[in-house]
Amino acid sequence: MGDRQAVSPEAVIESVLSRQRAAYLADINPDLALRRDRLDRLERMILAWQERLAQAISEDFGNRSPVVTTLADIVPTRAAIRHARRHLKGWMRRRRVSLAWTGQPGSALIIRQPLGVVGIIAPWNYPLNLMLSPLVGALAAGNRAMLKPSELTPRFSEVLDAAVKEFFAEDEVAVITGGPEVAAAFSAAPFDHLVFTGSTAVGRKVAEAAARNLTPVTLELGGKSPAIIDASADLDSAVPRLIWGKLLNSGQTCVAPDYALVPRDRVGAFVAAAKAAAERQYPRLSSNPDYTSIISARHFDRLAGLIEEARDKGAEVIELLPGTDAARRILAPVVVTGANDTMALMREEIFGPILPVIPYDTLDEALAFVNARDRPLALYWFGSDRAAEGRVLNGTISGGVTVNDTILHLAQDNLPFGGVGASGDGAYHGEAGFVAMSKEKPVLRQSRLSAVALLYPPYGRVAAML
Ligand code: NAD
Repeated sequence: MGDRQAVSPEAVIESVLSRQRAAYLADINPDLALRRDRLDRLERMILAWQERLAQAISEDFGNRSPVVTTLADIVPTRAAIRHARRHLKGWMRRRRVSLAWTGQPGSALIIRQPLGVVGIIAPWNYPLNLMLSPLVGALAAGNRAMLKPSELTPRFSEVLDAAVKEFFAEDEVAVITGGPEVAAAFSAAPFDHLVFTGSTAVGRKVAEAAARNLTPVTLELGGKSPAIIDASADLDSAVPRLIWGKLLNSGQTCVAPDYALVPRDRVGAFVAAAKAAAERQYPRLSSNPDYTSIISARHFDRLAGLIEEARDKGAEVIELLPGTDAARRILAPVVVTGANDTMALMREEIFGPILPVIPYDTLDEALAFVNARDRPLALYWFGSDRAAEGRVLNGTISGGVTVNDTILHLAQDNLPFGGVGASGDGAYHGEAGFVAMSKEKPVLRQSRLSAVALLYPPYGRVAAML
């Protein structure tokens, strides 16, 4: 934004938005070829810039392997682009629907139209995927877009800005960088749709700001996602999968299992298996790029504080691996037993490598524990008892579910992704994203004849027909 520095963030946002809106109005419904071209350019941009983008993300974190960025940011975003390109024609098709007698003998259709200019606000944890996956939906649906990355990933934001400028005109896609004040101004701008990914607390502010403009919002928020280990679960396969999902990016993943509900008589075996799995996946923490740093000193201190408070209040903290290094913001993973709701780690989303293990005696008790809390973004259930699985699927409500693994439902473009209640509103990915950022416009085409004409006044004649 070099040349715009002297201008206020509101003025920059307003000026880019008005240019994008004018461009949108000049071509309200871009054709298939143009939309495909934009998706192609997005993919070419990622290919040309992926090393620089991954390097910038590693620098923002301090310690994060480019492999994490490739697997969790770049691969799913490219898959989303390919999926959109493959299905775009079908998604754009006009849909004919049948008519009630009041429309007979006319015809009716639903036209999916771009909304206009979409604002996208992304968090820092998977900064590329969480910015560009919503963009795939926005561009596929024929919109223009303004992107606001997180102030906690400043290097990534800079590189993304340069990459976008190389492949897109500013009136197609533009990056707006800056801190929370810029973010607040951004969410107050009169977009035609806003996609916000971030915390529930900030999501609330964004929803309020957007409501003033009646801007529809897709809210992709967080929360405490439970993992339930059933009595029928095979710990040898379940625990490494749970630990993988928990320690990926050091727990800084929106759909990471936040805490585990474990049958009381299996807690000991569970903790031993968790330790073994952590040791296998991370043979050491020191100089290991696979184990991501905590993003900032503030977040590191917050997590250390959660552990300290739990310990002070009588919980047992079991280190899965040694190697906490505050200077490098490496936080060794721990399991916490004996945690309860007086401790912040059971009231707030953890977003770090801390796994409280809550024992339960009956499945009903486990479900009641989950249902007494905010609706989670994800729920994981491990087991082989199909009846118990059915009770969990029918007896809980969450943004999404993976059975017998963690995280993976997020990576499927045929599955809508989004939270419910405190974990979010609306969904994207694949066709869900396309629809979220389109207006489904109903059109009735009347025929030369009209059934309703029979009902015109004077109503004396009509009354006789009723
Ligand atoms: P955050 O809410 O602090 O910040 C997210 C974005 O909001 C950033 O770009 C920030 O600049 C912006 N922002 C800050 N103040 C704002 C304001 N007043 N108005 C508008 N925007 C503002 O979240 P974070 O710390 O970056 O990310 C972690 C959170 O995001 C966790 O709660 C996590 O669960 C959630 N998350 C959710 C998903 C999902 O897909 N549902 C994915 C990743 C992360």
